[in-house]
Amino acid sequence: MKKRLLFLGPPGAGKGTQAQKLAGEHGLLHLSTGDLLRAEVSAGTALGQEAEAVMARGELVSDALVLAIVRGRLEQQQTAGGGGWLLDGFPRNVSQADALAALLEELNQQIELVVLMELDDAVLIQRLLGRGRADDNETVIRNRLQVYRDQTAPLISYYRAAGLLQSVEADGSVEAIAARIEALLA
Ligand code: ADP
Repeated sequence: MKKRLLFLGPPGAGKGTQAQKLAGEHGLLHLSTGDLLRAEVSAGTALGQEAEAVMARGELVSDALVLAIVRGRLEQQQTAGGGGWLLDGFPRNVSQADALAALLEELNQQIELVVLMELDDAVLIQRLLGRGRADDNETVIRNRLQVYRDQTAPLISYYRAAGLLQSVEADGSVEAIAARIEALLA
């Protein structure tokens, strides 16, 4: 089974929900940069203070900051004996993807599968508006979708060119979508 995975897709596509479920079922480390950043904000750390305003606008926090978080977690996991992981919300632009490739080379690990979750904008916006997180008001949502198109969507061709990309339709029940993703892991 593939166990070094990356989830790609627009905000609201359900990456977090599926990533958590899959990681729980297969004993993978679920690494969500959004969750980790929100934890830093709640804890009021220096890092959280730096990230808070940027996140509230729907922009991306600095690559260096996010990369430090990811590096720490992946190194820690390797020291603890390795195992699979599922990256959710990272990388979010080409420079993060290049940095990830360099980090994985250092760790002697490889991405085995990139899952692209696809969903129409209208559905995304409805889902995000229903969620009610601090950065889920309509103006910020539109900005996050634009940031996704401009900065993150180029990763689709990046990983397709590497032969790693598979897409799933991200509509339907949580269970139905999970089954589509499971089918790609064999
Ligand atoms: P969503 O998937 O709904 O867009 P996330 O929880 O993944 O939400 O991210 C929320 C916010 O955290 C982003 O809008 C951004 O400000 C910040 N963030 C998360 N991951 C990254 C990343 N890899 N690089 C830069 N900023 C990030």
